[in-house]
Amino acid sequence: MTSQPASIDDLTDVLTQLDQRASAHREALESLVAIPGISAEGFDPGELRRSAEAVRQVALAHGCDRADLLEVEGAPPAVLAERDAAPDGHDAPTVLLYAHHDVQPPGDTEAWTSPPFEPTEADGRLYGRGTADDKAGLMAHLAAVDAWARARGGPPCHVKLLVEGEEEVGSTHLSAFLAAHGDRLRADAVVVADTVNWKVGVPTLTTSLRGLVDATVEVRALDHTVHSGMYGGPVPDPVTALTKLLAGAVDDHGAVAIPGFADDARPLSDAERHTLRQLDFDVETFRAEAGLLEGVPLAGDPDAHPLERLWRRPHLTVVGFDAPEVAGAANALQPAARAKVSVRLAPGQDPHRARRRLVEWLQGNTPFGLQVEATPGTAAAPFEADTAHPAVRAAADALALAYGRETVLAGLGGSIPLIEPLTQRLGDVPVLMVGIEDPDTRAHGIDESLHLADFARACSGQARLLQALARSARPAEAWRNHAGEVS
Ligand SMILES: [Zn+2]
Repeated sequence: MTSQPASIDDLTDVLTQLDQRASAHREALESLVAIPGISAEGFDPGELRRSAEAVRQVALAHGCDRADLLEVEGAPPAVLAERDAAPDGHDAPTVLLYAHHDVQPPGDTEAWTSPPFEPTEADGRLYGRGTADDKAGLMAHLAAVDAWARARGGPPCHVKLLVEGEEEVGSTHLSAFLAAHGDRLRADAVVVADTVNWKVGVPTLTTSLRGLVDATVEVRALDHTVHSGMYGGPVPDPVTALTKLLAGAVDDHGAVAIPGFADDARPLSDAERHTLRQLDFDVETFRAEAGLLEGVPLAGDPDAHPLERLWRRPHLTVVGFDAPEVAGAANALQPAARAKVSVRLAPGQDPHRARRRLVEWLQGNTPFGLQVEATPGTAAAPFEADTAHPAVRAAADALALAYGRETVLAGLGGSIPLIEPLTQRLGDVPVLMVGIEDPDTRAHGIDESLHLADFARACSGQARLLQALARSARPAEAWRNHAGEVS
């Protein structure tokens, strides 16, 4: 799970450029945070276009010499910026750097300590929506390219920077995007800056992601609302029926209980389970970070380590529920009830199979013989890196040097829908997912913030990572032969 730094070339000149340009990077980051490019439904798509255009300009001002908007009908624009390797690196590999420029809605803006789209520094952190997720990710990539370009006339590898515009809504135009622009993304490795570090100051490579499927289910019994005293008894209640249906999808511990749902998940080996237990996971800290109330036990299979439940098992969440509000509730039977069910998938699970199983199960298990209609939604694949790939070892060493700490290899309970299809499209290339957030970032929440010292370390980590990848891929057969060995 950890790795010792290896000796590599002196990068003093590159790191000096990083230092000298730190305020320019910070300024660019703040200018991007000020643009509310929210991809969720109901927000102004014009802001996303403005955000994409701003990213294009920032890329051109920070080491890239070409940058275009990549368009797909109906989708917010993505940005592709490029910079060739310095002249002595013409035979170097091509690295695709990934980040996204869209952000989550701010939620209740009144609840923020400072306005979400006015970046504000306090206690070593920069507050604002998207400061960490994921505008810091794209700036860390650009800071590295910029430093290399200034110090050495170009990065040590050919660089393509892809900045997506709809990550926060599940990359819904993914297939059309890859069909239209996949050829331009060709690369030998992908570096993703959109995940979380194990702790502040601890470099972390994320080696697995969960997938995500969802479905909407509606149960119907009546064509209008009726008096619960005059009809209740012989006439069934759709709200009760829906809660009974949803409750049946999990066992007594809250673990997914839909038969056969995760049969294709890849179980951890004993060795992997052992390494996971070696991580310094503190259950009390985890409870505190989640805000779990005193006495409320953790959910899921009690025989599995909490990290195994978080990273390697499916989990079902009811993310929406339409029923009458408690305030002003009448003694009446509702004609129908509706819920949106979202399930995180374990690595190995086929998202299309999982979504089909979910919909079939909802359709087939509605109590009281009510009418039911389950509508499939998102299907995003989980991801699992090949941790034995030389690029992963090289990346872990490079980050360890930048942070002065051993690199932790960790899983992630969240999803990045583009990763699995993108790497498949590129020919199963290695993927390095580097941490930008820390456990206190509150991405997607109120008072999202970026740890500024970690951001500086992330930038130098990116600078070192480019060099480590350039070296590790030489000769190119080193990676190709390895790819041939794994199953
Ligand atoms: Zn993100």
